[in-house]
Amino acid sequence: MFTPLASAETLTYEQINPPVEKFISELPVKKNYKVRKRPILIQGAMTAEVGRLMNALKNPVAYRYMNYVFVAGTYRDYPVVVSRTEIGIANAAVATAFAIEHFKPIAVINQGTAGGYTPELHLNDIVIADKSINYTAYREDYSPAGEFDFTKQTLRGTYVFDDSKPTEFTRFPSLATNAKLLQIAKDTALMNGNWNVTVGTIGSADAWIDAVDHINFLHDNYGMLCEEMETNSVAQVCYTAKVPFIGIRVISDNTITGEKFDLGTALNCQDFALLVTENLIHAINRGRF
Ligand code: SAH
Repeated sequence: MFTPLASAETLTYEQINPPVEKFISELPVKKNYKVRKRPILIQGAMTAEVGRLMNALKNPVAYRYMNYVFVAGTYRDYPVVVSRTEIGIANAAVATAFAIEHFKPIAVINQGTAGGYTPELHLNDIVIADKSINYTAYREDYSPAGEFDFTKQTLRGTYVFDDSKPTEFTRFPSLATNAKLLQIAKDTALMNGNWNVTVGTIGSADAWIDAVDHINFLHDNYGMLCEEMETNSVAQVCYTAKVPFIGIRVISDNTITGEKFDLGTALNCQDFALLVTENLIHAINRGRF
């Protein structure tokens, strides 16, 4: 089941970027999705982050919404939909909203690459989100001209619909991961010693941070283990739609350790996500999810 890690040098372009476009264009494209069980939705932003997942599906069928691509099939005899959300918070939110409406998933797994924030996190390491934040959802303190200090800010958070206030969306500084999904992901890590797995906060924004002071600020103040561009926006939509959600990331770059962006790490994340999916399917089949 576990595919041994290969370094980027030994991976061919085809392995990193499987020919998903060709694959998709050859698939039957259907308009309506009809399955008996609610599928598991697995997302990734780029082809390199979903190709292996799409290729793992049996009887794949493609769906398009605007230009967002979804491939539905089965994995371990259970319905699974793989979604290429495209990059960034708006795209990920749109792809999630559409998928929830159209496929009615029982759970959403968002996975992909991320930039590590600590010296302990290296390429191919996995970060499981116990919560996510949008680290640009802050309010800045007033400062007069000439006294700008980036650190004078408070994280405010993003707005989701919450039953505690049935008439309005509520602001949450961070969004917690579904407890059952978190446990399944942690168990998956324990059962498969091949991965170096850390649980903590994943931070999202339409940004790529490379200044060491900025990274340390976000780590020290908001507890961020890594940065990427989708998790918190997907969490927002899932929270509002009351669909269980988890974010899983692989470290693809780390400014602190000097490790440069390696898209090949995306394969490792997909392998781990498939193991989590398999354990989730076991839980569903036994009535435990
Ligand atoms: N092919 C693109 C790469 C985009 S990287 C280019 O060359 O411009 C942005 C994507 O990778 C996002 O989907 C984000 O989730 C993820 N990502 C990986 N490392 C990141 C980092 N350090 N900061 C922000 N996003 C990162």
